[in-house]
Amino acid sequence: MVATATDFTAEREAMVERQLRRRGITDGKILDAFLAVPREAFVGAAYAHLAYGDHPLPIEAGQTISQPYIVALMIEAAAIEVGDRVLEVGSGSGYAAAVISRIAAKVVGIERQHELVEVARGRMRRLGYDNVDIVEGDGTRGCAAEAPFDAILAAASGSHVPDPWLEQLSECGNIVMPVGQPGWVQELIKVTKRPDGTVERQNLGGVRFVPLIGEEGWKNA
Ligand code: SAM
Repeated sequence: MVATATDFTAEREAMVERQLRRRGITDGKILDAFLAVPREAFVGAAYAHLAYGDHPLPIEAGQTISQPYIVALMIEAAAIEVGDRVLEVGSGSGYAAAVISRIAAKVVGIERQHELVEVARGRMRRLGYDNVDIVEGDGTRGCAAEAPFDAILAAASGSHVPDPWLEQLSECGNIVMPVGQPGWVQELIKVTKRPDGTVERQNLGGVRFVPLIGEEGWKNA
């Protein structure tokens, strides 16, 4: 018998059912997006068998791919709709950007580590996710060339909400990001830009993320 590549479909379906739907993520378009993206393709071969575990995993450049549930929670909180333009700051492996791209019209993923930019771009190409652009740079400054965005999500914990994100956010758009000291439990927040330009801020609970390093974030030690 000829050996074939491992089929992860059953594991992916079980992840969506147990980790997402049973924990209260019920929006069909979010669940379908997770069913469409092969998470095993976003981690190194040595971790592929762990790709559907209920936890983050190590990726290149000493970084992590976030726990699927947290990615889903952030997408739900950001209220991403079909046709939206989304900025994902800290695109890392490219997994969250890929999932968002199955809902939104356009995703710009921005990442400061060159190695991760290269691997994520290769994955988007191989998987045919041609509505995702991976940009290299300091995401705390947003991406003015591609603004405005209906939603901005950050996969790294900042010291505050960067001003450029508020400037680049559409009216009624949402920012979902962790805020707080590196190495501690941080607060996941949702910031909504009201039509009069003021903002509404909600706390969504405790999370743990790597630091958001940049001009409007923490300084690199
Ligand atoms: N969304 C990613 C995924 O699906 O794999 C998670 C990546 S990891 C939790 C967070 C990433 O944020 C790291 O790759 C890190 O290099 C990146 N990062 C930290 N500060 C950044 C900044 N100012 N601009 C862009 N990326 C940043």
